[in-house]
Amino acid sequence: MSGDTGGDAPVDTGTVYLVGSGPGDPELMTVKARRLLDETDVVLHDKLPGPEILSSIPEEKREDVGKRAGGDRTSQEYTNDRLVELARQGKTVVRLKGGDPFVFGRGGEEAEHLAANDVPFEYVPGITSAIAGAGVAGIPVTHRDHTSTVSFVTGHEDPTKEDSMVDWEALAATNGTIVVLMGVGKLPDYTAALRDAGLAGDTPVALVERATWPDQRVATGTLDTIVDVRDREGIEPPAITAIGGVAGTRERVNAFLANELGGFDGEPDDR
Ligand code: SAH
Repeated sequence: MSGDTGGDAPVDTGTVYLVGSGPGDPELMTVKARRLLDETDVVLHDKLPGPEILSSIPEEKREDVGKRAGGDRTSQEYTNDRLVELARQGKTVVRLKGGDPFVFGRGGEEAEHLAANDVPFEYVPGITSAIAGAGVAGIPVTHRDHTSTVSFVTGHEDPTKEDSMVDWEALAATNGTIVVLMGVGKLPDYTAALRDAGLAGDTPVALVERATWPDQRVATGTLDTIVDVRDREGIEPPAITAIGGVAGTRERVNAFLANELGGFDGEPDDR
C-alpha cells in the first residue's frame, strides 16, 4: 500500500499497532508490546500506561494525546487523524493504551478509522485492568462458590439518565461479579442503583487504585459503606470497582498475597 505525502516520491504507508500496555507494571506488558515500543518510530499515548512504562520510552518518540497542559482532552478526531497522518508519512506507529486496547479504550473506533483510510493496523492485546486490577487485590473475577458470570461496565454514565446504556437492574439480577471501570466519580450513583435493584447492602465491594503501579492502593467495604471508604481514603482514578461475593475473597487470601503492594481494608464494621 502506498500513500503520497505530497513530497517527491510516494512512500509506503506505515503500520499502526494498537497496543495494550497492561495495567502498569512493565513486567506485565507482552514481549511483543515491548519489542514494538523499542522498534517503532512514534508512540501515541495518554497517561494510563503508567509512569514506569512511559518513562521507558525515549522522549523523542512520544506524543501525548491524553490530557493537554491546559487540561483539555485531545479530541478523538485529532488522535484518529494523527494516526493516519503519521502512517501516510511511512512511519511505524504504536498507539499505546492502558490495559487492553479494545476494553473501554476506544481502540475499536481507531481500528475503524484506520481501515476506512486504508491504513494497515495490528491489534496487540494487553492484560486488562478489569481482570488484573481485581486479581492483584486477591479478588478472582470468577469463583465457583460465588459466581459464574462477570460483567465489565463503564461507570462514566449517570445511572439515572433515561437513555443510560448500562442496565444496572439487569446487572444486579445476574448476581455475578461486576467490575466497573471509570467508576470512581459515579460510585454513589451506581451503588445506589444496584441496591435499589435488589442487591444486598452488605455485598462486598473493593476499589483498586493504580493497580500494579508502584503506589497501588486497595480499599474495601460493602455497597452500603464503600462511598464513605472512598471519601475517607481519597481514592482517585484510575481505579476499578469490583462488586460481588468474589470481593470478599480478598480477606481470606490477603495475608498470603505476595504481590500486594499496599492497601486499606475498612474497619470490620465497614463490611
Ligand atoms: N483499556 C483499559 C481501560 C480504559 S478505561 C483496560 O483494559 O484496562 C480507563 C479505566 O480503566 C480507568 O478509569 C480505570 O477504571 C481502569 N484502569 C486502567 N488502568 C488501571 C489501573 N492500573 N488500576 C486501576 N484501574 C485502572
